[in-house]
Amino acid sequence: GVGDFYDLEKLCVLGHGNHGIVYKVLHKPSSATYALKIVQDDITNSSASHETEILACTDSPFVVKCHGIFEPRAGEKAILMEHMDAGTLDTVLRANGPFHETLIAHIAYQALNGLSYLHACSIVHLDIKPSNLLVSKDMKVKIGDFGVSRIVDSGMTSHDNLGSQGTYAYMSPERLDSQTFGSMYIYAGDVWSLGVTLWELYVGYFPFFPAGKRPSWMEVAMVICFGEFPSFPKQASQEFRSFLKCCLEREPSKRWTVSQLLSHPFVRMQGEPNRLLPFAQISL
Ligand code: ATP
Ligand code: MG
Repeated sequence: GVGDFYDLEKLCVLGHGNHGIVYKVLHKPSSATYALKIVQDDITNSSASHETEILACTDSPFVVKCHGIFEPRAGEKAILMEHMDAGTLDTVLRANGPFHETLIAHIAYQALNGLSYLHACSIVHLDIKPSNLLVSKDMKVKIGDFGVSRIVDSGMTSHDNLGSQGTYAYMSPERLDSQTFGSMYIYAGDVWSLGVTLWELYVGYFPFFPAGKRPSWMEVAMVICFGEFPSFPKQASQEFRSFLKCCLEREPSKRWTVSQLLSHPFVRMQGEPNRLLPFAQISL
């Protein structure tokens, strides 16, 4: 393990987020590499405390592993994580273009297992999107970035303003419409976001608008809540289209749960791992 923060040497920046900077670091005594996320932890930013609280208590092969939390200076937290050496599904998509269906099924299987683990721990992620799904060259997919996640408790009500955090484009209708947002179907929001994410991986762009269009957040919210969706890709298999339909059911009580989706026929279409294009062959 890594006991001493000062044994770590910064190698390069892996990514910038709204909440912090992530570095690739070397643990000098062991020559192992890790990812280190530095976040401000003060009263104006509660994301750091949620993120560290959740990472400290999760342990799943489908969730990015935390190896330590440090406080290099007052008001700052440093989160040491396993380094995912192929980046995120967002960077892979931008480098390589749309994904084959069998690879999407493989991603769906892993992301659903991650969500199944989290939801069983009463954790709702609230920000599932391509840039928060981390990938390794051997095609492991893990859920990361718990900056807006919450541990659900029975005292939680719709007054807890969860609807406003996260990324609008991937948000479910009930989260965008805070009037109807309650804790009853809180986990269903992660399922919606996963559906949008997998659809985007297949077509290569945010699927609710034509490629290249940069809609305002208001246009996005209108389409998600009231608009007519574009139809699912015609070349896609019956199984994949059915899977997307189950994730993107507008009414949260009718949307499939993670455990229902794990037995959907699409998830069993993963195929032989050696028939999938490994992320290792992807030029980044
Ligand atoms: P945002 O608000 O934009 O979602 P954030 O500030 O919450 O971002 P993260 O999503 O945790 O931060 O990380 C930002 C970026 O750093 C990621 O999109 C990814 O490119 C990179 N990154 C984060 N964690 C890792 C990791 N464990 N291994 C490799 N790269 C990582
Ligand atoms: Mg992020």
